Amino acid sequence: MHGAPRPDVRDRRPGVRPGPGAGAPARRRPGGALHGPSARGAAEGDGPRRLLGRPDAAVARRRRGGAARRRLRHLQEARDARPGRRRRRADGRPGGDARGRPRARARPGRRRRRRAPGRDRAVRVGTAARRRPAGGRRRLRLQRRDEGGDPDRDRRRPHHAGADRPQHAGRHHLRAVRARGRRPARGGGGVSAVRSICPYCGVGCGVVVEVRRGRIEALRGDPDHPSTRGGLCAKGSRLAGTVRTGDRLLHPLLRARPAEPFRRATWPAAVARVAGGIRRATAEHGPGSVALYLSGQLLTEDYYAANKLGKGLIKTPNVDTNSRLCMSSTVAAYKRAFGADGPPGCYEDLDLAADVLIAGSNLAETHPVLFGRLRAARARRSAHWTVVDPRRTASAEAADEHLQIRPGTDVALLLGMAWTLFEEGLVDEARAGRACAGLDGYRVAVAAMPAGRAAAICEVPEDRIRAAARRFARSPAALSLWCQGLNQSSAGTDKVSALIDLHLLTGQIGRPGAGPLSLTGQANAMGGREVGGLATELACHREWDDPEGRAQVERHWGLGRLPDGPGLTAVELVDAIERRQVRVLWVVCSNPLASLPDGAAVRSALARLDLLVVQELYHPTDTGELAHVLLPAAGWAEKTGTLTNSERVVGLARRAVPPPGEARPDWEVFADVGAALGAPEAFGWLDASQVFDEHVRLTAGRDLDMTALSHAALEAGGPASWPYPAGGRPRARRYEDGRCHTPDGRPRLVAVTFREPAEEPSPTYPLRLLTGREPDQWHTRSRSGRVAALRRSAAPRLALHPDDARRAGVSPGQTALVSSPRGSLRLPVVTSPALRPGSAFLPFHAGPVEQPAGWPNVLPGRALDPVSRQPELKHTVVRVEPAASEVALAGGPLADAVAARLGAAGVRARRVKPAELAGAGPGVLRVLVAEADLDGALAWWDLAPGAGGPVLLDLAAGPEPLALLPSLLAAGRPVACRGERWLPAP
Ligand code: SF4
Repeated sequence: MHGAPRPDVRDRRPGVRPGPGAGAPARRRPGGALHGPSARGAAEGDGPRRLLGRPDAAVARRRRGGAARRRLRHLQEARDARPGRRRRRADGRPGGDARGRPRARARPGRRRRRRAPGRDRAVRVGTAARRRPAGGRRRLRLQRRDEGGDPDRDRRRPHHAGADRPQHAGRHHLRAVRARGRRPARGGGGVSAVRSICPYCGVGCGVVVEVRRGRIEALRGDPDHPSTRGGLCAKGSRLAGTVRTGDRLLHPLLRARPAEPFRRATWPAAVARVAGGIRRATAEHGPGSVALYLSGQLLTEDYYAANKLGKGLIKTPNVDTNSRLCMSSTVAAYKRAFGADGPPGCYEDLDLAADVLIAGSNLAETHPVLFGRLRAARARRSAHWTVVDPRRTASAEAADEHLQIRPGTDVALLLGMAWTLFEEGLVDEARAGRACAGLDGYRVAVAAMPAGRAAAICEVPEDRIRAAARRFARSPAALSLWCQGLNQSSAGTDKVSALIDLHLLTGQIGRPGAGPLSLTGQANAMGGREVGGLATELACHREWDDPEGRAQVERHWGLGRLPDGPGLTAVELVDAIERRQVRVLWVVCSNPLASLPDGAAVRSALARLDLLVVQELYHPTDTGELAHVLLPAAGWAEKTGTLTNSERVVGLARRAVPPPGEARPDWEVFADVGAALGAPEAFGWLDASQVFDEHVRLTAGRDLDMTALSHAALEAGGPASWPYPAGGRPRARRYEDGRCHTPDGRPRLVAVTFREPAEEPSPTYPLRLLTGREPDQWHTRSRSGRVAALRRSAAPRLALHPDDARRAGVSPGQTALVSSPRGSLRLPVVTSPALRPGSAFLPFHAGPVEQPAGWPNVLPGRALDPVSRQPELKHTVVRVEPAASEVALAGGPLADAVAARLGAAGVRARRVKPAELAGAGPGVLRVLVAEADLDGALAWWDLAPGAGGPVLLDLAAGPEPLALLPSLLAAGRPVACRGERWLPAP
């Protein structure tokens, strides 16, 4: 039994409408759709359309061009999906032409000439074709159509089910067709309004972008987006500032090694370089020597193409994504409980929940639009909020109850709550046993964690744990929300499982307002999971060890046998690069040098690659600084494609402006490399809608079946939830009938046990470091850092509890040296009573470009969750002390040069004789710089063999080794350098 379709799922609009003041006002039909002259062109969806005024010649030519022809089939579907839709004249009566003028009355005996562009242009194309002498391909198509055949037969892809094997469109033709899709709208003073989706976080806010003359003039929240209803946070409302920045990467750039300057290259040369590097690595070291590192910021089409290229064509299983750092623990926990990934609930539950348990999320600052919705719901109807967080965050401030647990003890708390329910008879065990598998084992696990023990571990009073449990179980509808505070842990999967267990035990699931709902970090992390962007999964939630699933993917792609098993996950990739097992890394839309833990080791590893390809919007970025190849990518508002948000709603983000320079949609780049590697037919898509169609067909029959969706359907009907099978209806809430995707159809209670974080404080490292966001900033700030209005503070600061600051001998405003077993950095200190004593907090955004002497993620270690392989970014042991005010350097001429460079970098460096080093005062770093013979296979940083050997730095390699020097010295590491060729005389 499934719930009725959500009203907002049916309440859709087309994708384009005019901006304010643009001629005749659009009118809304009862169903919410806009119509009228201004709504014409809605089916285009691939760029801004001039909706008012006389179309100029360029636009007219474009409308006659191949872009229309290749969308013939999709537009016909879109039109068919809009029963009863008719064009209207400017005066509101039906039957207007493209500019809203009354249509000329048809004369008897004369065939009416259809002029409307947009959604009816498929018909117009046919007419236009007849007006011109037909030749070549067009004549062939017209002939086929007249014969009743399929005019687009030669455009069908070979992997389309039931399709004939096509004559493949050649690569030059493809490039030309794709280029036409990127042509900017020109001329005229009208404003186009293009619907898109915010690319930052998984809330997935709808955005209306106003475009004039190919530039974004303004944007606003889309009031009719079913998920977010016009809401935008500060990041989303300033998206326009991220598009035309002065540091966009405009052309492919190549170099032989990172020490050399980049030189501009053509796309064919860049594609050849990438394909050549992949071919060489696979020939010499096997397919596993190539890895792709993707991003939850990519569109689903981009993700799909990359996955097919990597796992399908290159045959490397090493295709992973930065979602590994973000949601993989939740993915693993959903699969353990329900047999399939994806949240059971939806945003509507925010409005209906009576008890809200928020664990490991400061959604007031990280998901502000959802927080606003939650707060509005609480204002309408009473709801109790409990926040579980070691910090007193803005969300905790707003809650009714804040359980300020010791960091890393969430499992103990949740088991203690479950124990309370058993002990106080609040569990209907018969019902739980019928509804769920695994009750017996779970009961045993819970029995080991009485509420009193949980209270001692978590360091919160027992009665508050018991009260939270009672509220949860007795509530008419209990909802839980969580994010990275649970996920980014060496016990992340168990934490999420323990939370889901509470829902299953109490029956708080599958009802309005009740259920577990993960708050996805990135905008399209869900879409990436759908296409199989994680190294541990195959496409469409299939598993590597499922023979039938493997066969389905192999048949669908037509590229032969898939790799044998799962690939390397993000942190494991770094290890493999260090071992030289992986030689080629292609990073797309991500900045792993700044975001992965143990950052100095990541930098060292990346420098060992034979080929590092970085596909990015901007230059420079932290990771891009080490690249051999930089490929310019089209970004938000510059390409068309889909995203799936935290509630499984798939939406279409439309191209609003042309990409700058030679930037291209990511899927096109993967397609070109796929063609260069010898499989042009498998990557012969003509536009993003074809990529999406291919992906959607692979979802057939799966838990995420979305075969009802296409770009045209999303244009016609607006965003929609999956599962949404063809002929079915979208389902906003899953498992309402208690059936899920496990072998026996019942959800599973997972018996988990509490374990401490991987690192425990010690006298050397007495503090627990938590990391998180600054308000209004996003990840490594590649995008949000470019918007001046979002910057709140000049420099990141380390927050300490006042007692810890006193103990460490640092005061607010003073620069402290914060060190972990892996590295250190210098930061100004602030004190905050919102922290528990014994813990510190640091925003994680900065990377080596911003903080070359040490950035936040040099501190965390590489401990992984054993199930999800997600690293423990949220818990690191550190020591805080006053930063040395001075560096004393002794040595030969190289020490002089190093002292000068440190001085230029703002570090007070004093040149001394070796005999004077011992006498340097307190707070002075004493450094002896040795010049060494470092010939050999040294990248720019290496460890000399033997315990305690020096760190060898090749200062000739570029700025990185010198930037690393202060943190190495601060850690007391002996250093040897080679740098005469690079360092100028002081
Ligand atoms: S960052 Fe998230 S909450 Fe803010 S506008 Fe974008 S999608 Fe919405």
